[in-house]
Amino acid sequence: MPVRVLLLVLAIVMPLAAWGGNAPPLRKDYPITPVPFTAVEFTDGFWSRRIDINRKVTLPHNFVECENTGRIDNFVFAAGLKQGKHTGYQFNDSDIYKVIEGASYSLLAHPDTELVRTIDSIIVFIAAAQEPDGYLYTPRRLIRPDYAPPGGKERWVGMKDGSHELYTVGHLYEAAAAYFAATGKHSLLDVALKSADLVCSTFGPGLRGEVPDHQEIEIGLCKLYRVTGEEKYLRTAKWFLDQRGNAKGHELLGEYAQDDRPILDQEGAEGHAVRAAYMYSGMADVAALGGDDTYIPSLERIWRDVVNRKLYVTGGIGAVGRSEGFSLAYALPNFSAYCETCASIALALWSQRMFLLEGDAQYIDVLERVMYNAILSGVSMNGDTFFYPNPLGSYRGAERSSWFACACCPPNVLRFIAGVGGYAYAQRAGDIYVNLFASGRGTIERPGGALTVKQETGYPWDGEVRITLEPAQPAVFTVYVRVPGWAVNRPVPGTLYNVLGNAPGNALGHEPGGILGRAPGQVPEGITLSVDGRPVPVVLNKGYAAIRRTWKKGDIITLELPMPVQRIVANDSLEDDRGKIALERGPLVYCMEGVDASDGHVTDLVIPDSAPITHEFRNDILNGVTILHGRGYTAERTLGGDVIAGDAREFRAVPYYAWAHRGKCEMTVWPARTLSSALPLPAPTLARRSRVSASHDVAAYAVNDQMLPKNSSDQSVPRMHWWPRKGTTEWVQYDFPGAQSVSRAEVYWFDDTGEGECRLPKSWRILYREGDRWIPVANSVPYSIERDRSTPVSFEAVRTESLRIEIELQAGFSAGIYEWKVE
Ligand SMILES: [Zn+2]
Repeated sequence: MPVRVLLLVLAIVMPLAAWGGNAPPLRKDYPITPVPFTAVEFTDGFWSRRIDINRKVTLPHNFVECENTGRIDNFVFAAGLKQGKHTGYQFNDSDIYKVIEGASYSLLAHPDTELVRTIDSIIVFIAAAQEPDGYLYTPRRLIRPDYAPPGGKERWVGMKDGSHELYTVGHLYEAAAAYFAATGKHSLLDVALKSADLVCSTFGPGLRGEVPDHQEIEIGLCKLYRVTGEEKYLRTAKWFLDQRGNAKGHELLGEYAQDDRPILDQEGAEGHAVRAAYMYSGMADVAALGGDDTYIPSLERIWRDVVNRKLYVTGGIGAVGRSEGFSLAYALPNFSAYCETCASIALALWSQRMFLLEGDAQYIDVLERVMYNAILSGVSMNGDTFFYPNPLGSYRGAERSSWFACACCPPNVLRFIAGVGGYAYAQRAGDIYVNLFASGRGTIERPGGALTVKQETGYPWDGEVRITLEPAQPAVFTVYVRVPGWAVNRPVPGTLYNVLGNAPGNALGHEPGGILGRAPGQVPEGITLSVDGRPVPVVLNKGYAAIRRTWKKGDIITLELPMPVQRIVANDSLEDDRGKIALERGPLVYCMEGVDASDGHVTDLVIPDSAPITHEFRNDILNGVTILHGRGYTAERTLGGDVIAGDAREFRAVPYYAWAHRGKCEMTVWPARTLSSALPLPAPTLARRSRVSASHDVAAYAVNDQMLPKNSSDQSVPRMHWWPRKGTTEWVQYDFPGAQSVSRAEVYWFDDTGEGECRLPKSWRILYREGDRWIPVANSVPYSIERDRSTPVSFEAVRTESLRIEIELQAGFSAGIYEWKVE
């Protein structure tokens, strides 16, 4: 990057800061204040290692990818510093903003002048790309005939087509606040404030009435309000929220963008999951900073909807890939689960804010679950590859990618992990919350003087936590020690998941009238708490054991959380998990991978309730993990179609976050408990024993997996398809194990009318191979084409080594097949 030659430009394009004062104290804020991650140091082998790799690998990796993929050049070209065209998605500016935000968090903890120089050099381009009145959106400056951002040359009009103008600058505001905090430099903050001033004078009562198509700017504006104390930023954030669902002010964007009705009337979580959870986070910020409780009932209602109906056991949200969004209640298919990494991060942001509003540990239970499982799955342990979706099962395995064309997730991981220490502690009027467990220390600026909290623990592998308090001088205050939901047999708040054999715990101690309406209760045996060796009764209130006393230097709180292997069962309404179990230990959800199975299969595994499961810490695999061992059996389908118990099978489970680190293989989080709910190994039919190939091979393996859908648009069952090919003639082929005589076939067509571009075919026929020629079979019945059932065709017997379905796609559409049987 030509950094130094542009220092001169820097001097020209960076005006002196218009705003130069310290932030005035805010009128209102969250009742609970998090202890900033800069005051928290992890020395454990788990998070400290992740934070280290995040800084040393993920951070430079993100910069390099942004540079190599034209994301930085887009600013350079828009600024007119070089000639070039805009490349990539219209919202790619946001990625570089998120990288700067993450890099700034890294700087706060690890000063690095070289990194500051790199960021400064990029800020020069960003500032130069900003238009004189503050408008900043590189695609609009680089408009060209073959690439027009939604809305064309016109500003702000592409909202319903996904221009994401307000989304991208929302990330700019977060980046600017972070970079200002890290360096005290105004360069990016000035750009952000100029942009925000334009937004505030463009949108609002009597002005433009559109809402952001992708929420984020609400969080960003609240951060600018925090930095400057400038009320208009908070006012505009609130206005954007209140404007949603207001058909008088703009053309509604619908449920997908949470813009079908006013937010106060939204019953539950709907639409695109990242937009939704960013919006809920913004609502919490506006409620806290504005001192306005209006949003709280909506936030609590939507939270209840998520934790009772729409949350995966890994903490992932957003079941549907096509909309990247929430599905209906209890519709949580595992193998097709989307669970975008960004949605998990957004849920973490929202959970933390709910805790800061209400001081209830149920929010941290969800935060902890999503951190250790759904989010960590999104990044490899080496820190340079990423998952976008994070499914809970896979038939063929998956590999993380080093980057994506739509690269929202990698920089989101970067900024989240860089700041992860900020979730560990919090305080309210001098009382302390210990929320996360990890060896290390936190320094808390209490009203009565600084307090150092030191933790020693083997968490998440071991549940003993030693907390040493070091107040500057003896002081009376309360320490709220979180007793995690998993430890009291309440893995998540709400009713979605329970520990097998344990009645749903009534022990979280949420106050009557609180979100769960639970009375304080006794905690399970084995959980102990002591101060300086003297036992303290564990009575929970909102999930915390509260200890109030005069604390002096060297006082030690010891918390013992037994960490048995837990079998998790899902609420019966959750069809995909019926008759199945997920294994957990502590905060970690486990999965089985084919690489650990003698025959490479795990999706056919049955683990009876009676099978003992043991655990063992292994230093030699996956950077050191506790693995689980047990013995179950396989489920097999016979040629007659019955499902029978197969061989006994040793199984091994590893933490879900560590999946897909040992090659592509089957994976499942939810093996069966009983034979009747198992997914059997396919019967050795002729189709099964054949080699499958296709003219355009997208999941061709699915045609002989013997998994039939509920109907022709069932997204939860694997199917092959020819998309994006449309209107062409295509084929799929079986190569038999030697010459076979065949006279009948059956095909179950895929057709996602209403969602995608696959339709029933225009026509199809079967051909057999004779030497080099493909010859149509003599069918005795017409080739029928029907939805929602398997359609058979009989033909004059042929003896051949290969059989083909030739298919003519409808004009403008593609097609797909769930299953193809031959006899
Ligand atoms: Zn993403």
